[in-house]
Amino acid sequence: MSMNSQGRPSGKIQDGPAAPGDAAVNDCALLPLEPLLFEIGSRDHCGVDLPDVQIDESRLGGFRRLSPLDLPGLSEPESMRHYVRLSRLNYSIDAGLYPLGSCTMKHNPRLNEKVARLPGFADIHPLQPVSTVQGALQVIDELARWLMVLTNTSAVAMSPKAGAHGEMCGMMAIRAAHHANGQGHRDVVLVPESAHGTNPATAAFLGYRVVPVAARSDGTVDVDAVKAALTPEVAAIMLTNPNTCGLFEPDVRKIADAVHDAGGYFYCDGANFNAIMGVVRPGDLGIDAMHINLHKTFSTPHGGGGPGAGPVVLSKALAPFAPVPFVRHGEDGLMLEEHGDANQSFGRLCAFHGQMGMFTRALAYMLSHGGDGLTQAARDAVLNANYIKARLQEEFSMPYGDQPCMHETLSDDGFLKGTGVTTLDFAKAMIDEGYHPMTMYFPLVVHGAMLIEPTESESLNSLDAFVQSMLELARAAKAGDIERFRQAPSRAPLRRLDETAAARNPVLKWSGSE
Ligand SMILES: *Cc1c(COP(=O)(O)O)cnc(C)c1O
Repeated sequence: MSMNSQGRPSGKIQDGPAAPGDAAVNDCALLPLEPLLFEIGSRDHCGVDLPDVQIDESRLGGFRRLSPLDLPGLSEPESMRHYVRLSRLNYSIDAGLYPLGSCTMKHNPRLNEKVARLPGFADIHPLQPVSTVQGALQVIDELARWLMVLTNTSAVAMSPKAGAHGEMCGMMAIRAAHHANGQGHRDVVLVPESAHGTNPATAAFLGYRVVPVAARSDGTVDVDAVKAALTPEVAAIMLTNPNTCGLFEPDVRKIADAVHDAGGYFYCDGANFNAIMGVVRPGDLGIDAMHINLHKTFSTPHGGGGPGAGPVVLSKALAPFAPVPFVRHGEDGLMLEEHGDANQSFGRLCAFHGQMGMFTRALAYMLSHGGDGLTQAARDAVLNANYIKARLQEEFSMPYGDQPCMHETLSDDGFLKGTGVTTLDFAKAMIDEGYHPMTMYFPLVVHGAMLIEPTESESLNSLDAFVQSMLELARAAKAGDIERFRQAPSRAPLRRLDETAAARNPVLKWSGSE
C-alpha cells in the first residue's frame, strides 16, 4: 500500500490477507474512494466569476489579509459531486439495517424533517426577543412535559447536547445538592462493571473517585455488592437500566432504596429508554436524574458527530439545582428563566437552550405516535431483539441466553473458539455482507462481546435477511473458512484501517500538496 502526502492510502488492492492497519484500497468502480477537496480543487481557480475588488481604505488596520486564502477552487458541479460521493461512502440507517447495540439506530421519519424545516423553527435565533419565538418555546415546553410524563419526574434540564453531556449535567445537579445539604465531602461514585465508558468518565471528569460494582453471573448488578460499597463518602450511583447486557435490572428498586438510605443519589443512564418508554416510568424506580438521548429513543438523526440532544429529567430533590435557562409560564406568555429558583441552580451548562432542531424532531415523533404508539414502539423493539436472539442462538454463544432480553441481544466470542476468527474479523466480514457491524467488545463484562440492537423499525423480512447472513457467517467461521474473515472487508472501498493511529494521530489540517 502506498500513502500520499496526507497519509491517505492510495493504489490498488493487493491479494492476500488484510492485516490490521492494512488500508489497501479496493478497486470499486461505482464507489470510488474520494480524494480530498484540496486534492481535486486548485487554488488558482475559482468556481465563480467575481469582479476584482478595489479596496481604497481598509478598515481592518494591520489585520488585513495579505496572502491568498488558499481555498480549493471548484465549479458547482465539481463540489456537488465531491460531497455526494463522500456521502455515499457513509453507511446510514437510510441505506440498511444498522445493528449497533446501545445506539438505537432507528428510522428517522421524514415527517420530523418536514416539521423541523418550518421557518418558524428553522429560521429563528436564540437571541431574538422571547415575544417573537413563543412557538419555539412552546415546543421546548411541550417536549419537556412529555419527557416528565413518560418518566414521572418533576423537572427536566433541556440544554445538554448529548447523552454524555446529560450525564455531566445530572451529576453537577447531584453535586450542587450535596453541597447545599452540607454533604460536599462525598466524593465517591459507584459505577457497575457493565457501564458505558461515559459513566466513569463523567464521574472522574467532575473530580469523583470511581468505585466499580461487580456484576452477578446473570449479567445484572449485585444489590449486596452495592450495599457493601455504600460508605458515607458515596455521592451517587450511576446505573444503566435496562443495562448494557440488554437486561432489565430486577433489583433496581432495592438498589435505589439502599442508595437513598445511605444519603446518595441515583443517576440513571437512560440511553436504553427505547426498551421501556411508555411501559416503565423511571421515576417509579426511584431515580433522581436520568438523561434521555433524543437521538436514540426519539428518532432524531445521529452518527457522524452530528447534533444530538440529551435532556436530563430530575426528581423533586434535584429539581431546584437544574441549570438555567428553562422555560416558564409568565404573565405575557412563555418566558426564559435565566436565574433559577432561589439561585440554587448550578448555573449555565452551555450557551442558549439546547438543540432546537432535535427538540422539534423529537416532539414530532412523540405527537405522531401518541402515548400508545410509543408503548408499542418499545414493545416492538423488545420483540425484534428477542426474535434475533432466538434465531441466532443455535450458532452463537449468548451468555445470558436463558432469559429474555430487552431491546438488544448479546453474544460473546465463545462460538468462535478454536476457529482463529475474532470478534473484529467477524465484524469486518459483516461489512462484506452489506451490514454495518454490531457493537463489539462492549460491554466489557463478556469476552469478545457482540451487542446487537435491531430497533422496532425493522420488518420481519429485513430481520430474516440479517439473521440469514449472521448464521451463514457463523457457520463459515466454524467450517474453517478463515481467509474470508482475514480478508474482510473485500467489498468496501478501504480494507482494515489502523484505527488506533487514526484516533491518536489525526491529520486534520491540509498542509499543502507534495
Ligand atoms: C449512547 C450512550 C451514552 C452516551 O450518549 P451520547 O449521546 O453518545 O453522548 C451513554 N450511555 C449509554 C449506555 C449509551 O448507549
